[in-house]
Amino acid sequence: MKARVYKSTGSHYSVKDEHGRFWNARIRGRFKIDKSIRATNPIAVGDWVNIIIENEDDGKAIINQIDKRKNYIIREAPQNRIKRHIVAANLDEAIVIATINNPRTSHGFIDRFLLTAEAYHLPASIIFNKADLITEEYIADWKILEDLYQKIGYSVFTIQATVKEDIDKIRQHLKGKTTLFSGHSGVGKSTIVNELFPNLNLKTLAISSTSGKGQHSTTFAEMFDLDDNSQIIDTPGVKEFGIIDIDRYELAHYFPEMKALLPECKFNNCLHVNEPECAVKDALEISVSILRYESYLNILDSLPQAEYL
Ligand code: GDP
Ligand code: ZN
Repeated sequence: MKARVYKSTGSHYSVKDEHGRFWNARIRGRFKIDKSIRATNPIAVGDWVNIIIENEDDGKAIINQIDKRKNYIIREAPQNRIKRHIVAANLDEAIVIATINNPRTSHGFIDRFLLTAEAYHLPASIIFNKADLITEEYIADWKILEDLYQKIGYSVFTIQATVKEDIDKIRQHLKGKTTLFSGHSGVGKSTIVNELFPNLNLKTLAISSTSGKGQHSTTFAEMFDLDDNSQIIDTPGVKEFGIIDIDRYELAHYFPEMKALLPECKFNNCLHVNEPECAVKDALEISVSILRYESYLNILDSLPQAEYL
């Protein structure tokens, strides 16, 4: 029977079958997994799997097959720099929740998030929460960022988590998609998730009572149903996603406004730093903002030099 993984505690998975029933599942036997990712976890939230019922009354099931992933998002595995942890799979969109004030989210963080989404070919949007705290002195900062990201093609929402109309706008946007939610702590992610899902407590209770290992759940993503066709995946404690595997020479491809300019650079291995006749540098303050270029340079700096060069 087909099912989708909603929660993982490492060895147990909460999966929902096509009739809407949740099962407490574990893996048994060997099945084909994607060897191209050296992952610490064979199955991730969002995965489609096949299950066999083990005990109908206890709600126990066995996962014996995993479907090919449409996409997935990874991060470095905790305590292991070589291995990867698959955060979530089969996503339609990624949303970063940010705040202009209290706390202030750096544009560098937003840009790293957007870069990751681009690298995984995931549409991305930004929610600026705490609109009520964007007082006069912060309006200019907010406007700069809103304009900047909208111009490059990202959807930007500015909301107050406790305002029903604002939450409805977000709910509308999430329809028909599996969306990953991310954000630094303190930006109001839990508040937004709770406002989106008034019945959430019921559901989380039902899931954790079957998995029995709730205390580990904070390091794992968890998926929630908005309706039959719309899910969000919350990623508690995940601060940063996997930009670790990006080639320095490909970095600019993941900045949409730079990507368009790349054929115009004189050198096709241009890193857009010191090279002459660089179309990206020529476009600074025109179609490439200084803020974004700054993020580009910071990220470039953080990427390992390729050994074959
Ligand atoms: P999380 O760490 O991202 O999950 O953030 P929380 O949802 O726990 O929210 C952090 C704090 O911000 C809490 O005190 C919330 O009440 C507050 N908060 C959330 N949304 C808003 C908002 O739209 N405006 C204001 N002023 N405070 C908010
Ligand atoms: Zn260049």
